[in-house]
Amino acid sequence: MKHIKTIAFDADDTLWVNEPIFTKTRLQFETILSKYFEIDNNLEHQLYEVELKNLRLFGYGIKGFMLSMIESAIELTQHKITGADIQNVINLGKEMLTHPVEVLPGIQENLEWLKDHYQLIVITKGDLWDQETKIARSGLADYFDHIEILSEKNASTYQTILDRYQISPSDFLMIGNSLKSDILPICEIGGNAIHIPFHDTWVHEKIDKHTIGDFSFYELDSIADLKAYLNKK
Ligand SMILES: [Mg+2]
Repeated sequence: MKHIKTIAFDADDTLWVNEPIFTKTRLQFETILSKYFEIDNNLEHQLYEVELKNLRLFGYGIKGFMLSMIESAIELTQHKITGADIQNVINLGKEMLTHPVEVLPGIQENLEWLKDHYQLIVITKGDLWDQETKIARSGLADYFDHIEILSEKNASTYQTILDRYQISPSDFLMIGNSLKSDILPICEIGGNAIHIPFHDTWVHEKIDKHTIGDFSFYELDSIADLKAYLNKK
């Protein structure tokens, strides 16, 4: 892949741990609600339905997730949830917003050598303030030439970034954990993509294998394999 000039990284679950924080919070949310009714497997699905409905109003991110937890709690307890427990739900969201940023193994070492050979960009989606503070707290900001925080990742939002920096899709490589958000839109616009799966994936980012169609992209087990891969061919 010697032709690559620009490498863009997804942030959540590519540069640092994210989804496990949501998973842990969903369990704590269940504990709060368990006072009101017997929790079954359906609760996660019910919360997701509310999140999905609210996405177009709140966008991605923790603050929207907090509001969706509150709305679900009110609905599922048939308005019986107490003010004190609403406060507990809000506190879960606040804990998420101040959660330490855990950079994934191997990221820093790889960025260290990549920065001397490639233009590097972070392309993430979500809440602007939350993502900006996470980038600052991660200690990784200085490795990147540009940081792009989008409200949605699709072919057209990626194309806008390539146009802005006058990057040709064939010179561009995107690395991320989500096939739906990081890989397929890049394939659609003729760019290169490497999928590095993460063990925990939000249901919204999951796609059926058939959606992948004829697109070709690469999959690496971990960032540790990236250097060898880039030096190939
Ligand atoms: Mg991600």
